[in-house]
Amino acid sequence: MNQFIDKIAAIVGPQGIITDQKDIDPYTRDWRGRYHGKTFLVVQPGSTEEVSQVVKFCAANQIAIVPQGGNTGLCGASVPRENGHEIIINLKRMKQIRHIDRENNTITVDAGCFLAQVQESAAAIDRLFPLSFGSEGQCQIGGNLSTNAGGVAVLRYGNIRAMTLGLEVVLPNGEIWDGLRGLYKDNTGYDLKQLFIGAEGTLGIITAAVLKLFPRPKGVATAFIGLKGAAMAIRLLELARNLGGDKFTSFEFIPRICLDLVFKHFPALKEPLDQIYPAYVLAELSDTSTSDVDQIMHDLLTQAKRSIKEIEFAIAKNQTQAQQFWAVRKKIADAERAEGVSVKHDISVPVSKIVEFLEKSEAALKTAFPKVEIIGFGHLGDGNIHYNAGMAEPDSAAFVARESQSVNRIVYDIVARLGGSISAEHGLGQLKRDTIKTYRSAIEIEMMRAIKHTLDPHNIMNPGKVL
Ligand SMILES: Cc1cc2nc3c(=O)[nH]c(=O)nc-3n(C[C@H](O)[C@H](O)[C@H](O)COP(=O)(O)OP(=O)(O)OC[C@H]3O[C@@H](n4cnc5c(N)ncnc54)[C@H](O)[C@@H]3O)c2cc1C
Repeated sequence: MNQFIDKIAAIVGPQGIITDQKDIDPYTRDWRGRYHGKTFLVVQPGSTEEVSQVVKFCAANQIAIVPQGGNTGLCGASVPRENGHEIIINLKRMKQIRHIDRENNTITVDAGCFLAQVQESAAAIDRLFPLSFGSEGQCQIGGNLSTNAGGVAVLRYGNIRAMTLGLEVVLPNGEIWDGLRGLYKDNTGYDLKQLFIGAEGTLGIITAAVLKLFPRPKGVATAFIGLKGAAMAIRLLELARNLGGDKFTSFEFIPRICLDLVFKHFPALKEPLDQIYPAYVLAELSDTSTSDVDQIMHDLLTQAKRSIKEIEFAIAKNQTQAQQFWAVRKKIADAERAEGVSVKHDISVPVSKIVEFLEKSEAALKTAFPKVEIIGFGHLGDGNIHYNAGMAEPDSAAFVARESQSVNRIVYDIVARLGGSISAEHGLGQLKRDTIKTYRSAIEIEMMRAIKHTLDPHNIMNPGKVL
């Protein structure tokens, strides 16, 4: 093992390896504290060429690799398993913005760039990189690509897949595939980059990407809206689409229980509305022209007040207030983590089925577990709900340990009946690796296995995840 480590150190230099178990430990724990794997080595290469050489050496020695970015993933895909035989390749030292092309609206970045860094680089040339969510200060572009991250602006801009033009990838045999093309049209055979987006590091290590930039909106209107529940939120969404079309970038659903948790764990944050409501929507619309987005938002909400009633809203007066609204939304995941464990789901159903999903799941779960506490929030406009079931302290940990499988079965069966997905944006990782066998057809899984086997015949790239 020492010889192996010495060889890797010779490739990446002493600053590129971590061998002390105390320093390794944070890299082996996932963000939610659910998985704690083992490894003898974390490698932090400084370039694509170094990644390639490390992977070649691992392939020759049949050492398995866990690619890792900011380690904020939520399904145990970014940490090694417990056998201690896998090494971590973490890209945090590769964080150069390689090129910004204002004319062609593209940015070429190392995979280790933080998401926030890419947003800021785009803003510096009056462009927008629209991917945004709670962990944007810690997660990396390579991790975003490998999970096909979504976030709060999917409604208008899509997942990161829709923002990606080219990739550079180190394959499981160590070869470098340079697909860093910044073309908006390119139908030259199979679109290989799509294989690596959302592959959770099982097919190769993404080392760089060409991403699309968008015009920076000149006007943004953000509103926090209190209403009676999900059915009202869906009606509001329909109104919003009729009035604002694709100017609407975000439409987030937040039940009251989420605000209670956020204010409990982050008391500095402020209540956005005067009254307490059973549920809220955080809606944002933006426009690149100077049209009056505040007026559109105001018209929408006045109209909504007439047809939906029992609705209160605040439109952010300035950017600071908009950021305060968003802070409340973006802190939900942290507040939940601070509160304790629960059985977590990240599901999607057609938007028209969301209310049915929420009602049926709650009824079924409460029948099976009368004391269950449910938190269902998220990207309503995309049909994506983060749906978590727990018990009041101190029972939650025992409940999760004992009943996770039964809870999953109840929730996922309803999702499947409604034509939905059991993994809307976080991926499968270790958490749902076995569950997909029930909810995806044998032929789909066989095609995935065939792709994996072709690219990684010795199964050294993030084994035990996804498949
Ligand atoms: C507070 C919070 C809010 C979140 N909100 C959202 C949200 O709204 N929408 C959403 O989609 N996700 C959300 N997430 C989860 C999201 O998936 C991650 O934050 C992010 O996309 C993962 O990036 P990362 O760099 O941390 O990757 P990691 O966690 O390090 O890795 C995730 C996966 O990608 C692989 N990987 C990492 N880097 C590479 C690489 N260079 N090449 C190949 N494989 C690689 C890993 O092996 C693993 O399978 C949230 C997470 C948190 C903690």
